Amino acid sequence: MSFLSICTTETIKSAALALKNRHLVAFPTETVYGLGADAEDAHAVARIYEVKGRPADHPLIVHIASLDAMGQWAQDISEYAITLARDFWPGPMTLVLKRSDLAKDFITGGQETVGLRVPAHPIALALIKEFSAVGGKGVAAPSANRFGAVSPTTAKAVEEELAPYLLESDLILNGGPSLIGLESTIIDCTGPAPMILRLGAITPLMIEESTGLVALESNPNATRVSGSLDSHYSPKAKVLLDVIAESGDGLIAPDQIPTPNGVIRLSAPSSIEQYARELYLALRKADQLGLGVVVVVQPGGEGLAAAIRDRLGRSAFVE
Ligand code: AMP
Ligand code: MG
Repeated sequence: MSFLSICTTETIKSAALALKNRHLVAFPTETVYGLGADAEDAHAVARIYEVKGRPADHPLIVHIASLDAMGQWAQDISEYAITLARDFWPGPMTLVLKRSDLAKDFITGGQETVGLRVPAHPIALALIKEFSAVGGKGVAAPSANRFGAVSPTTAKAVEEELAPYLLESDLILNGGPSLIGLESTIIDCTGPAPMILRLGAITPLMIEESTGLVALESNPNATRVSGSLDSHYSPKAKVLLDVIAESGDGLIAPDQIPTPNGVIRLSAPSSIEQYARELYLALRKADQLGLGVVVVVQPGGEGLAAAIRDRLGRSAFVE
């Protein structure tokens, strides 16, 4: 059975109706593919947890159509949070704000905060807007992968990963490969200054330039951010960082690094953007090829490179 839909105005409309009728719709965003459900519907949201195999106390990001909908889901929004929203939405940034009554425990994991994002992908935005047109207020969507696994950056990857757990009435919208390839930057905006809970394409420098405030970086153990668990973003293959690849290993490394004899080159990015865009696809390819080991040569530098190293550090974690 195939869940994949090519996106036309009609399919997006019927996907919005499917959401309203409590079904799940996986959809493309510029970061990674999300597994969406009506954020007001406890039953639909419970199915996200089921399909992902995710513990129920992890909060979900609510995707909204524009900054105007912020006030429905959040309250006491600080000035710098509005500045960030103005500067970077639609875009790869999630703001954690004090929740309103609309954001129930099944969305926030019982926390007093809610994560909000306006994604920049045209199909994601069209879906959320159509969903509003049929009375929806927000689409809850974590990455469309099984808990702890690598986030999907193509519709095919979503199908390969989740098809066994989806129902016939669920949908996967195909919007091509995600252009960024790494999950959103998560910023806690409930304190006097922005606190970065997860690194991403919106960098600390960009946050500082936007708000005039120094962005703090969180102690990942302090808040329940599933992407901050130690073991996450993990393929089945063992990920080894910055070692010499041996024959039979997979290799992900910047293009100037040559491929040793017998090593399977999975990605050879020539820019940091390409590195981010291809990383998860390359890790998935390692599993498709049944490789035991993937050696990854990490990128140097700040910004997006630091976000990549953050994910790699977690995917390489061994107990
Ligand atoms: P994913 O979309 O799978 O990358 O996961 C979304 C991330 O946002 C998860 O790590 C969540 O724990 C995090 N998140 C969502 N809402 C909140 C919140 N209210 N406070 C802290 N983290 C959040
Ligand atoms: Mg995730």
